[in-house]
Amino acid sequence: MTDLVVRGGTVVTSTSLGLADIAVTEGRISAVGANLDLDAGQEIDASGLHVFPGGIDSHVHFNEPGRTEWETIANGSAALAAGGYTTFIDMPLNNLPVTIDGAALDLKLKAAERSSLIDFGFWGGLVSGNLARLAELHARGALGFKAFMCPSGIDEFPACDEGTLREGMKQIAELDSILLVHAEAPERLHAPSGTSWMDFVLSRPPEAEWTAISQAVGIAVETGCRLHVVHVSTPHGFEMIRKAQADGADVSGETCPHYLLYADSDLERLGGIGKCAPPLRSVEFRDGLWRKLVEGQVPMVVSDHSPSTLDLKHGNDFSAIWGGISGCQTTRQLLLAREELDLQLIAGLTSINVARRFRLKGKGDITAGFDADLWIVDLGHKDVVRREDLLYRNPFSAHEGQPIRGRTVRTLVRGKTVFASGQAQPGSAGRLTSLTI
Ligand SMILES: [Zn+2]
Repeated sequence: MTDLVVRGGTVVTSTSLGLADIAVTEGRISAVGANLDLDAGQEIDASGLHVFPGGIDSHVHFNEPGRTEWETIANGSAALAAGGYTTFIDMPLNNLPVTIDGAALDLKLKAAERSSLIDFGFWGGLVSGNLARLAELHARGALGFKAFMCPSGIDEFPACDEGTLREGMKQIAELDSILLVHAEAPERLHAPSGTSWMDFVLSRPPEAEWTAISQAVGIAVETGCRLHVVHVSTPHGFEMIRKAQADGADVSGETCPHYLLYADSDLERLGGIGKCAPPLRSVEFRDGLWRKLVEGQVPMVVSDHSPSTLDLKHGNDFSAIWGGISGCQTTRQLLLAREELDLQLIAGLTSINVARRFRLKGKGDITAGFDADLWIVDLGHKDVVRREDLLYRNPFSAHEGQPIRGRTVRTLVRGKTVFASGQAQPGSAGRLTSLTI
């Protein structure tokens, strides 16, 4: 018995694009094909619309529990659903307690089960002092681990020294898990010499990223650990990763819309709302990163949604302003607005490539056997990012005013509509995502 058929949409995956019907049975895709001859309990007419696999944002900070005045799982997951996303993976900070042991993961799991509109997973933390906790985090379902090579900005989540990084990677390799690193080498960072945005940018030079990638790759090769570099901000960072892959290392990288769309000089206009680490880079690096994206040399684009209250983004001393960009709702729509980017490439960057790299079971594709996570979108619709449309707990973003394309007609998680007609549907439909193995 088929529960649902989505009829007549242009189905976009990383490997195909064409008119097709999608049949859904018990939350999974049971058939995909032209003019499916099936009776279903429910039909959705998608003619004139595109249907993408639900997006997967593997880099968000939803801050729950502990800092829900900055963001909540309810708000963050609704924002993602509004932008065509059906799964998120939450970082082990800036929630409190930070997710560095099993008890903290349990708290976050309960919070997500209570209020997430979409499916979810969690990264555990690797910090100096919690090596004995990695196995319990893994056993409770952590999809992998996150470490900082420099101070994180959160005292409760200290940086990894080299010894911890090496021992952590050894353990993570034994667990057949993956380590995500924030790659900025502390010895290449220095205190800002003044209070301007430019002083801040100069205090975190691109060489810090390159040194850290080189160190992390070296330890990954030595320990046999799978490694993923978060928010790569320079084209050379991706070149280093490709070179390491060619040499046999199991390493990958991601970038974020802000490094593709803005340069450091945009901080004059954006002020503290555009502060993040690594910082926005030169026009040359921004354009070089964009070229790599268009050429298919960047495997994934994720938001690094790292919100706070608006007052923390203002002030006369740029170095004292909270660092982090709010943006998870609009990643896909921002990419779609740049029409030189192929639709299939965007599908890959925001769904299957993420699912494959992180081994997410049944996620990221529109094919029989996968979860019926679907984004039905009107690509004829063009607009700009507007504050009043943002569903964050604190609705502001560095992306306000940027062109976007695609109005969300409906977002489905495992066959259930979670967002339609401009509204998040009430309730908590999400559940914990598991690994393929
Ligand atoms: Zn982050």
